[in-house]
Amino acid sequence: MKAMNPLFPNGLILINVSFREGNSPDHHQNITYNQLLRNVCRCANALKLLGVKKGDRVAIYLPMIPELVYTMLACARIGAVHSIVFAGFSSESLCERIVDAQCNILVTADGVYRGDKLINLKKIASEALERCKESMASCVQKCVVVKHHAFRTNTDASNKLQTPWDESCDIWWDDLMDGVSDECEPEWMDSEDPLFILYTSGSTGKPKGVLHTVTGYMLYTSLTFKYVFDYHHDDVYWCTADIGWITGHSYITYGPLANGATSVLFEGVPVYPHVGRLWEIIEKYRVSKFYTAPTAIRLLMKYGREPLQRYDLSSLRVLGTVGEPINLEAWLWYYDVVGQQRCPVIDTFWQTETGGHVLTPLPAATPLKPGSATCPFFGVQPAILNEHGEELEGEAEGYLVFRKPWPGIMRGVYGNQERFESTYFRKFPGFYVTGDGCRRDQDGYYWITGRIDDMLNVSGHLLSTAEVEAALTEHPSVAEAAVVSRPHAVKGECLYCFVTLKDHKEFNRTLMEELKRKVREKIGPIATPDFIQNAPGLPKTRSGKIMRRVLRQIARNEKDLGDLSTLADPKVVEVLFSQRCEAAA
Ligand code: AMP
Repeated sequence: MKAMNPLFPNGLILINVSFREGNSPDHHQNITYNQLLRNVCRCANALKLLGVKKGDRVAIYLPMIPELVYTMLACARIGAVHSIVFAGFSSESLCERIVDAQCNILVTADGVYRGDKLINLKKIASEALERCKESMASCVQKCVVVKHHAFRTNTDASNKLQTPWDESCDIWWDDLMDGVSDECEPEWMDSEDPLFILYTSGSTGKPKGVLHTVTGYMLYTSLTFKYVFDYHHDDVYWCTADIGWITGHSYITYGPLANGATSVLFEGVPVYPHVGRLWEIIEKYRVSKFYTAPTAIRLLMKYGREPLQRYDLSSLRVLGTVGEPINLEAWLWYYDVVGQQRCPVIDTFWQTETGGHVLTPLPAATPLKPGSATCPFFGVQPAILNEHGEELEGEAEGYLVFRKPWPGIMRGVYGNQERFESTYFRKFPGFYVTGDGCRRDQDGYYWITGRIDDMLNVSGHLLSTAEVEAALTEHPSVAEAAVVSRPHAVKGECLYCFVTLKDHKEFNRTLMEELKRKVREKIGPIATPDFIQNAPGLPKTRSGKIMRRVLRQIARNEKDLGDLSTLADPKVVEVLFSQRCEAAA
């Protein structure tokens, strides 16, 4: 990777670096491209020492620390396939992903502070490996454990943290890297060789391992990064996503680094240790290109303008957003208050599957409309279809599909070609189906209207209703469960769950807490339900299919229910309305 010498607006000359900003503002570090290369090579050689070869899968369960980037690029360097699991997922979710990809190595950390909350990551990782063994599907031979920087310097934290240790499997990162060469020839790869697997929710409940390959993905993330953020060598770029999601893969690691960009790697949360933390970081590093999610904007809006006024945000040039539709109020606040009406708001629509941006404005080139991801990126050909698969012209609303592939599109569902074809290509032959609804206006602008399959988007993260329902029905008191979305002021959508209890079981606060815990344990805290309603019966058609449309309307208190003639027992609806949850559980 090239080292550049951008001239900063304040006259400071720096070589291109990543600014690493920890959970606490006291933990920060500059990493040059040269240091990055050496650390990646060291890690690559260490993985080879553990027996990792081209094509092997390596699971990574790490917080947002430099070792995460080193490990993913080390895998890429030796042709191994990384499978990163967001470090907020539960041990069960981690195990499921390790087993599905048959990973032989897991890289994790001892622990991490998220805000002021201490999380024992190694304990979760060890539980996951235990589970893998129990299911007789153990494939992990070595678990590499990073001693998190914050704990080396914080005795209080290391005292609080009991790191479970299995001598036969666990190895400290530092011990592994000790004395290892920092030079490593890259492996020659075919352009269609796999680069990584990243799991995304599937409507059947079982996550899908989305597979991306080397050249198309890197080319596409590099190109979209350059044009969509109008990247120049004197920019400082910052994306607040976590690398555990696709946004972090494409627009923290691959896209920016392939452009030799100067960027910020942030480990913390937006409101710790104070509500102006994001604005403080923008001032500290003179960030010019900023990329975040509507859910973060809505969270920060709640604190008003004052926290921003304490900081100098004049370095900002472009503001990006991703993950979910952005509502008008949030868009205007981002534009007026954060960008001081100087910076275009770039609403980028894309998915884990698309690899990079597919619908997006280009800064200063595309006239903006708040809430619209505007137009396709170069070479991308969207279409809108009706239920019968007929293409709609002009102003229209229907299924968003794409006609032709682009370099960054996924190449498969890992180990399951049938699922790849049936999920994305079977409904409308000849098109890639996004699963999103979309409207095209009279100017040809695209407006995403939300998911039209059984997926929910909570804080920009896709969740499958089936997966949450499976967690709820694992509780011994629950006979049946149905989960729908309800609008939420900060998260965009939240989970509203209907549970039918087994005979003689009592619905009470303890049960609600147990159900929430069950979902957290099975999936992770992001899936925690906001509302749980006792449902003596669920609205079903005569053939036994739950009518989710009706449940969604009950959750949203929409009284006009339309045609209910297909319901087996319409009285159920009245009962459910009368017992609706007003307040969150
Ligand atoms: P994921 O694969 O987890 O990144 O989630 C992709 C989904 O997030 C899409 O299918 C959309 O439902 C939603 N999404 C992502 N970006 C946007 C956006 N800019 N506007 C509206 N929805 C979005």
